[in-house]
Amino acid sequence: MTGMAGNEWYYETTQFSYAHPWVDGLVVLYCETAVTVPEEIAQAIYRGVQDSGVTGKPIAVSFVGGERSDKAMAWLIEHGIPTYNAPDNAVKALATLREDYRMEQMRQTDGYTPEGINPAAAREIISRARSLGRSALTEIEAKRVFTSYGLPVTPTDLAVSEDEAVAMAEKIGFPVVMKIVSPDILHKSDAGAVKVNIKTVDAVRENYRLILENSLNYKSDAFIDGVAVQEMAPWATEVIVGSVNDATFGPTVMFGLGGIFVEVLKDVTFRVAPINTVEALTMQDEIKSAAILRGVRGEKPRDKQALADVLAKYAYMVHDLRDEVAESDANPVIVYEEGKGVKIVDARIILTKK
Ligand code: ADP
Ligand code: MG
Repeated sequence: MTGMAGNEWYYETTQFSYAHPWVDGLVVLYCETAVTVPEEIAQAIYRGVQDSGVTGKPIAVSFVGGERSDKAMAWLIEHGIPTYNAPDNAVKALATLREDYRMEQMRQTDGYTPEGINPAAAREIISRARSLGRSALTEIEAKRVFTSYGLPVTPTDLAVSEDEAVAMAEKIGFPVVMKIVSPDILHKSDAGAVKVNIKTVDAVRENYRLILENSLNYKSDAFIDGVAVQEMAPWATEVIVGSVNDATFGPTVMFGLGGIFVEVLKDVTFRVAPINTVEALTMQDEIKSAAILRGVRGEKPRDKQALADVLAKYAYMVHDLRDEVAESDANPVIVYEEGKGVKIVDARIILTKK
């Protein structure tokens, strides 16, 4: 409609469009003019909806104007018609409704159940930690839980002596990464307790001592399981996958690129778990830094399919373990080029209070 539109135009257009079988939803916009009365326009819209004979079709209205428009909007809301004081909010309301419907369809028609998983093994690790009075899992335990759900983690061993660490490093192959394993130190680098790119036997011994020393300096009463020795994953694109068991939504998954993208730019996206791999690909496309995964400045595209698989499995896991897992993350997950897969190098699980 144009600025010519008066009460009858609003009435007829609303009634005709609302009843039309090709129309799935309606947004009616109005801006106060010298020749129209907002209350009358509101009534015209309301009558149009009533007289269309249709019920339950989405509609959103927006009035832009002064006090009289405010009153007319309040009147529409009282009469059950969602009304907003900015046109973009009215359009967003319908868009959100459509998105919600799309998600619901997706959940119903394309479920995702990973194969070859072992939830019982995961629950055993968790109940063992609980029996020791712990509220969080160590990286090694969390990685075992992840593995039980088919997630790709860097193989990790626990050394309780320098000699053991050396034997493990030789078995894994240099270079290796070494980290503290303690239920009391969840942010290991803050404690100076993560050492990467360790290339020699001497360096393994030296770092074993250094990691223990730094950890005890950081937290003198920390309980220490030992030192993890693990494969050093080659560097590629770092992303973060996490979960929170939300009081309202239940288990939710979070995804974003690692480093400054998540810490400074908060460029992350969320879903209510579980999700399927189609949804997991959508998540990768909707972050602002999505181009990095597609490959920028001559870099090859990243393995988005493998990452989608990890996201869907992760969501499945936190949904399946929602009575046990309050919060978790895989930070970082390293994403290689197309066809080369994904590696989770760090894992964290915080247990629910029981
Ligand atoms: P935390 O998050 O507890 O400080 P991480 O295990 O995430 O400790 O290690 C810190 C950083 O070290 C990681 O963000 C990653 O860049 C690097 N890193 C850790 N483990 C590996 C590994 N196995 N291979 C390659 N890099 C690693
Ligand atoms: Mg980490």
